[in-house]
Formats: sequence, C-alpha cells, structure tokens
Amino acid sequence: MTLLQSSGNGSENGGKRNARAVKKGLRRLNLQSRMQNKSLKNRMQKETTASERRGISWNTTVFMALFHIGAVAALFTFKWQALVVAIVLWWMSASLGVGMGFHRLLTHRGFKTPKIVEYILTLFGTLSLEGGPIYWVVTHRIHHAHSDSPGLDPHTPRDGRWWAHMGWILSGTAQRHDKATLGRYAPDLLKDKFHVWLNRLYWLPLAVLGLALLLLGGWPYLMLGVFLRVTLNLHATWMVNSASHVWGKRRFATRDDSRNNWWVALLTFGEGWHNNHHAHPSAARHGLAWYEMDLNWWGIRLLQTLRLAKAIKLAGVTDSPAP
Ligand SMILES: [Zn+2]
Ligand SMILES: [Zn+2]
Repeated sequence: MTLLQSSGNGSENGGKRNARAVKKGLRRLNLQSRMQNKSLKNRMQKETTASERRGISWNTTVFMALFHIGAVAALFTFKWQALVVAIVLWWMSASLGVGMGFHRLLTHRGFKTPKIVEYILTLFGTLSLEGGPIYWVVTHRIHHAHSDSPGLDPHTPRDGRWWAHMGWILSGTAQRHDKATLGRYAPDLLKDKFHVWLNRLYWLPLAVLGLALLLLGGWPYLMLGVFLRVTLNLHATWMVNSASHVWGKRRFATRDDSRNNWWVALLTFGEGWHNNHHAHPSAARHGLAWYEMDLNWWGIRLLQTLRLAKAIKLAGVTDSPAP
C-alpha cells in the first residue's frame, strides 16, 4: 500500500521518480508473492506425501494380480485338509500377527510383552503379505494422525472408496515412505535391528512357508494356505480402511468417520470395532460391549493368563474419546 502512494509532488521529475518507485515496488511485491507461493507449494507438497498418487507401483500390482489369479485357481485344487491348514494360518497371520502384533502392540503399544513374543507375533504378521512391519506401522500412525483428512490420510474414503480399499496400495505410499517419514513416525522401531531386518525381507517368511506347504502337502496346501488365504485376508484388512469408515454405527463422536462394523469385525478377528478404536486408539480391547466379539482381545487375554502380556491399556463404553 505505502509503495503505491504518490508523494503529491506535482513536478515532472517527481512524477518520473514516483513512476519508477511504483514499478520497483510492484516488482518487489511480485517477487514476494512468487516466493510466498513457492514456499506454500513446497509446504503443501511435503504435507500431501501421505497419500499422493505416485503412479502405479508395478511390483505391487503384478504381485496382487498373481495372488488374485492364484486365489481363483486354488478353488480347483480344493481339499478339506488344506482348508483347515489355511484357516489355522489365517488366524496366526491375521489375528496373532496383524491384529495383535502389527496393530495393537507395535503401532499403539496397547500392552507389553517379552521381546521374543513381540518378534514371533511380528513374524506371523508378515505371513499376511501386508508389507514390512515398520511401513505398516508408519502408514497406520499417519492414518491416526490425519484420520479422514483428504490428501493426508493414506487411505480415507473421502479420497474415493476404491482408493481407500485398494487404490492406495497400487499407487499410494504403501511400502514407499521416505527416510524422514519413517524417522518421524516410527523412531522406536527403527532402533530395533530385528524389525529393520524383517521390514526389508518381509516377503521371506511367506516364501519359506509356501515352499514348506508345497513339500509337505502338495499343491492344495500351497494354493489354499498361501494364495487363497492371503488374498481373502487382504480384502478383509482393507475393509477396515474402506467399509469401517463408511458403514456402521458410531458410539463415540470422534472427529473422523470411523464406524463400528460387525461384519468387518467378524472378518478381521475384531478390528471392525473401528469407532471404538479411533476413540481410544491405545486400548488393547476394541470390542467394548459384551456382544462385540473381539478375538484379538481374547488372544491378548490368553497371553495375559500365560503371563506373557502386562500393562494392558483399556477403555470403557462410557469413557469420553481420547483427545
Ligand atoms: Zn481408521
Ligand atoms: Zn489403529
């Protein structure tokens, strides 16, 4: 404003000086606003890395396609014995591994357990092919830090339901967090050599299991125990991100769209009580009412009975949501 004000001098020289001053002032303003725009753009770019589209991740996409084809092919090799093996492996990888291990223990530290138990649960989690445990934890901690903020939450349905379910796996930041993001969201896990090692070679335990199943039980064991189980469970897990943020009841008035969805809870051993979870993220028990079946919680109770779990964090149905 002051740069554009005339000095009120009526002389020609004064007029020229004023015109020059105005031009200079405008140039400076222009430069300032360009610099401001640039820094705003930089800031926004940094903040949108959480769910920015980076183009198709071909590696992931090819493996996802192979697993889906394998899951259909598995139906043609069906054997009851192989189905029982697949169900046991499903419980080990999805409940002990992802629900209790990756989620309630590593991400939210809802209970304490000896290191060896933590490592075994994490190892079981990798059998679900949901990526390296540290990447999983970082993605999920970002989800809680920016729940349902479009562009910031890695997988909010507000960015599209397909995106929330699977799109973010194929072209989002899953498995592709940079060092700074890893350091900010999982400094605890980066200090642990076992977790760092398993984060890099997360596919190895599943590859070894697949080979063992093929040798012990033939093709039906491999196809049902790996391809069918992994593919169905991936969709069940993704339902927590998509369906449990769209359909279901809201017991707590959280700032996000999270919902308690009974059928997602059944498919994920209790992870579908997602509104309860967003209201009390560090609580180790998600099914708060007696009728909210939560097998992952039963697993933690079992560990407690065996004296392998302690310092268990809990919340009640009448507790107000954590800030
Ligand atoms: Zn959520
Ligand atoms: Zn969580």
